Amino acid sequence: MTYFEFQQMFQTEQDALNFIIEKKYGDELYCPKCGTVHKKLYRQHYKPKNVYCDNCKNEFSVLTGTIFENTHLDLRMWLYAINLVIISRKGISAMQLQRELGMKSYKGAWRMMKLIREAMGKEEMNEVFEAIVEIDETYVGGKPRKKNKHDDKEDNDHFNKRGRGTSKTAIVGVKERGTGKVHAVVANKDKEGKKLTGKQLFKVLDKVCKPNTKVMTDQFSGYNILDKENDKNFVRLQVDHNVIYSMGNGIHTNGIESFWALLKRGIHGIFHHVSVAYLQSYINEFCFRLNYRNNDEAFDRLVCLAVK
Ligand SMILES: [Zn+2]
Repeated sequence: MTYFEFQQMFQTEQDALNFIIEKKYGDELYCPKCGTVHKKLYRQHYKPKNVYCDNCKNEFSVLTGTIFENTHLDLRMWLYAINLVIISRKGISAMQLQRELGMKSYKGAWRMMKLIREAMGKEEMNEVFEAIVEIDETYVGGKPRKKNKHDDKEDNDHFNKRGRGTSKTAIVGVKERGTGKVHAVVANKDKEGKKLTGKQLFKVLDKVCKPNTKVMTDQFSGYNILDKENDKNFVRLQVDHNVIYSMGNGIHTNGIESFWALLKRGIHGIFHHVSVAYLQSYINEFCFRLNYRNNDEAFDRLVCLAVK
């Protein structure tokens, strides 16, 4: 929503608090101590975030268990930050957030972004894709930092190679053709030190796709696993690079490739440097934004995840 719409919707902090309570509890406000469901709220006037349970005679904060717990900031700042994350197509850095909200500390803005991203990561994508999907992998990250000059030779040799077989971080992504929704995950090495094995790739598809999904892939051998019979009856359609594009058989992975372009522009342009430890949460953020075409819907959903 625009700044004006936001201002209209959340004129006071109480409006923001009411919105959060509604998302967290619906009309079933239960006491975390004794479990009693309250139809009526007994607000503590001196502390509006606290309510009183007339069953166990305890006071509790309605923000317990949410990302807003322990905050000293006006709740409108949190909701506005959530709104900014959603409306900024390429994402927003903690530094920008600090400026937009007029926050004193960078650390506070950074923590806020971290918690908002964690909430985005709670989005579950279990067997939501069907019909046709595209799957592809990409690599991000520059040179891995040398721990010391004695780093083993093998690692150094891999420094600047491109594509499969580099020491950059691999990401696997799946895009549903019909809806354009994307799910992407960092592909870590398995127990044997291998990444992007057929098994790993299958596992990604298995999580997000319903049975009988058609899967468009390039010629990477990891996808050969799909040529075999499998429990989910996934069928592989392989892009044929020898056929002139204009033949138009519709088998391509352009959709997921354009997602990689967006993700990389975001990572290189806005965030400058993303450490591997936070990479998954940045990916979650990009997927989340893309998967909701409508900003209002995305805002509602993200507040729900933030109070989960
Ligand atoms: Zn109680």
